[in-house]
Amino acid sequence: MYTTISENPVTLSFSETENQQMIAEMIKAFGVKEITPYRKKWDDDQHFPVELFHKLGKLGLMGVLVPNEYGGSGFGYHEYVTAISEIAKLDGSIGLSVAAHNSLCTGHILEFGNEEQKQRWLPKLATGEWIGAWALTEPNTGSDSANMKTVAKRDGNGWTLNGAKNFITHGNSGNVAVVIARTGEPGDSNGMTAFVIERGTPGLKPGRKEDKLGMRASETSEVILEDCRVPDENVLGEVGQGFKQAMKILDGGRISIAALGLGIAQGAFEESLKYSKERYQFGQPISKFQGISFKLSEMATKIEASKLLIYQAADFKNKGKKVTKESAMAKYYSSEVAVEVSTEAVQIFGGYGYTKDYPVEKYYRDSKLCTIGEGTSEIQKIVISRLLLS
Ligand SMILES: Cc1cc2nc3c(=O)[nH]c(=O)nc-3n(C[C@H](O)[C@H](O)[C@H](O)COP(=O)(O)OP(=O)(O)OC[C@H]3O[C@@H](n4cnc5c(N)ncnc54)[C@H](O)[C@@H]3O)c2cc1C
Repeated sequence: MYTTISENPVTLSFSETENQQMIAEMIKAFGVKEITPYRKKWDDDQHFPVELFHKLGKLGLMGVLVPNEYGGSGFGYHEYVTAISEIAKLDGSIGLSVAAHNSLCTGHILEFGNEEQKQRWLPKLATGEWIGAWALTEPNTGSDSANMKTVAKRDGNGWTLNGAKNFITHGNSGNVAVVIARTGEPGDSNGMTAFVIERGTPGLKPGRKEDKLGMRASETSEVILEDCRVPDENVLGEVGQGFKQAMKILDGGRISIAALGLGIAQGAFEESLKYSKERYQFGQPISKFQGISFKLSEMATKIEASKLLIYQAADFKNKGKKVTKESAMAKYYSSEVAVEVSTEAVQIFGGYGYTKDYPVEKYYRDSKLCTIGEGTSEIQKIVISRLLLS
């Protein structure tokens, strides 16, 4: 049992539930056949394997938090953390796409959609028939997203959107996107609105696909809006509340990016532990050198600390508590640990770690996204310090 430093201490249990164990086993069995054999090719070719996500949908992994009545698995955040981290252990790109689909697009509709909207979109998203995108970032407004330029103008019984979104996960392949656009004055946190836009809507155009350092099998692209007309029934929640909604969605989403970092770190650690016992130098396994065994100790300790922060945030979220600080702490710490652990993994593998013959170089490349996506580490520290000092 563990007591948090929060003003409202909660008592957490860290033993995994049967559901978490079941999810982990299911992903391991699925991954051996459907992910591990292909991950290097997907990464080399920067191929986004759309068909895989339909299969993950059949396993209930594309609607982990969505209630059964809308076709989802109806699980809580602990199960969700297990799902993302187990997938990320196998392939960070797939973990990132599953996280963005579940937390952002699907999560936004689940949290702020009316009953008709939920009935319309959630069953397709939760079963993986459709892939979801979520578009907040723009070329000139990333961290400063409240200053976005994309505008939605009132137009009869709907809205006309113009602008460009950048770095959008599934920006080209997504069947549906939640797009946040300005409906008020620049910088006014009550001046943005969330719209659901289906692929094929006139004026919604796919843009350039990014050529990335890591997470190469997760599609990242621009989304262009040119006189894109969206009816009133596609507005999520109240007009003007889109930015505040987005910040709440990111509170949950950051738990999934923390889980992504956890999985990458665990995968890199497990490979390192194994290799350190198999690689001989100076007549003994390199694990016998204190320089290597201390690295393993530090890696394992940081991974466990990440897990505790993530489970704390998951517990807060499950209990419906405000989770802004806890999810920012989990995301910040776990992301930095993913980078540190995967860097040390490459070091433990020596020259072989620098080649594509072993998976650690991929963990190293993939890990860096965790410190950037859904708010950089610097932005997490701003969020945490604001709450500490308020
Ligand atoms: C692979 C990938 C997938 C993504 N998926 C999505 C998606 O699906 N949907 C979406 O909307 N966005 C997505 N993003 C965008 C992502 O959220 C942004 O890249 C991120 O928020 C940072 O914005 P930026 O890239 O414009 O960097 P900038 O905001 O330009 O930041 C540049 C640097 O300045 C620092 N900085 C900025 N402001 C401050 C400050 N006030 N104090 C201190 N330092 C500061 C940052 O920490 C960073 O180090 C994705 C990005 C990537 C790379």
